[in-house]
Amino acid sequence: MTTVSAYAATSVSEPLTRTTITRREMGPHDVTIAIHFAGICHSDIHTVKGEWGEPAFPLVPGHEIAGVVTAVGSEVTRYRVGDRVGVGCFVDSCRECRHCLAGDEQYCVRGMTGTYNGVDRDGRPTQGGYSGAIVVDENYVLRIPDSLPLDAAAPLLCAGITTYSPLRHWNVGPGTRVAVVGLGGLGHMAVKLGKALGADVTVLSQSLKKREDGLRLGAGAYYATSDPDTFRALRSSFDVVINTVSANLDLGRYLMLLDVDGTLVELGMPEKPMTVPAAPLVGGRRRLAGSLIGGIAETQEMLDFCAEHGVLPEIEVIEPEYINTAYERVLASDVRYRFVIDTASLRG
Ligand code: NAP
Ligand code: ZN
Ligand code: ZN
Repeated sequence: MTTVSAYAATSVSEPLTRTTITRREMGPHDVTIAIHFAGICHSDIHTVKGEWGEPAFPLVPGHEIAGVVTAVGSEVTRYRVGDRVGVGCFVDSCRECRHCLAGDEQYCVRGMTGTYNGVDRDGRPTQGGYSGAIVVDENYVLRIPDSLPLDAAAPLLCAGITTYSPLRHWNVGPGTRVAVVGLGGLGHMAVKLGKALGADVTVLSQSLKKREDGLRLGAGAYYATSDPDTFRALRSSFDVVINTVSANLDLGRYLMLLDVDGTLVELGMPEKPMTVPAAPLVGGRRRLAGSLIGGIAETQEMLDFCAEHGVLPEIEVIEPEYINTAYERVLASDVRYRFVIDTASLRG
């Protein structure tokens, strides 16, 4: 086992602090990755704060990992030392169930192994990307195309695939009318990817503060949800509404923005249940759906798509010491549009 530096949460209320963790012995199919950058996803914050149940502490978050391969196991065929690679939200799955076989490992019947707060094959808790290195089975590692800088590539491993997968699944393409609710990490990627797929994208943000950004990112229109006129003006206007908001919303109001047969895709995972009125679903044959990240093959497809179309997240690179402040800023919707930790000082 090797010891690496990391930033860990020790309880739901204490700030994250610097510590050391051990990584498992490399098996024949494993690669060791020196982590260069790790994005901060709002899911890290939900998890650390215990909003999805009490996690196992100490907990090293981070599932938007970009780095370089430093060692490979004897049976590894896909990667070599020096390759630029990424790791997303899971590091293993059963590989046998119908969903794993279909490339939807995130819906593994036996449950995927989360990159953190999961149970590793050696029985210990998995620990994530706010650290200097990680050991991962090569089948759960992604190749980062040369044209994508490692820092900006990191958020693609969660925010990128989480928005790309539903856009593709619901056939978003030229002329599709898409509304993106919430302009944060996921939201700004949904705007960029929707635009790259040819859709007509509208941003629905709490205020008009980020209007210029939204239009620059590729939206054709931008509305404030704090203005009740928005919901009157946009009634029945969209084929797809992508909800990336981390807090509870009045879903009925957003369902009413869909045209007949439209789909509201829920990506946000707030702590508390949300209420869904029947009338907007029934009175428009509308659908309410959800989507969880994406499979390994689709994640590689997304990375290649981003390289081909020049799609990259807008990031603010921070030192590990800034993680707790970054969390506060994410919670205050003050993120433009993803914090990415430079883990150089953890590589040591
Ligand atoms: P984020 O960067 O914090 O973005 C969320 C955005 O939601 C904020 O920027 C803000 O946008 C809006 N918002 C926040 N609080 C709000 C409120 N009270 N009312 C209305 N709007 C509010 O978070 P993220 O990293 O994009 O993640 C978003 C959510 O998706 C989280 O719940 C996360 O756990 C979840 N997630 C799900 C998956 C999946 O596979 N489904 C994957 C990753 C993350 P405006 O300022 O523009 O209003
Ligand atoms: Zn995430
Ligand atoms: Zn499976």
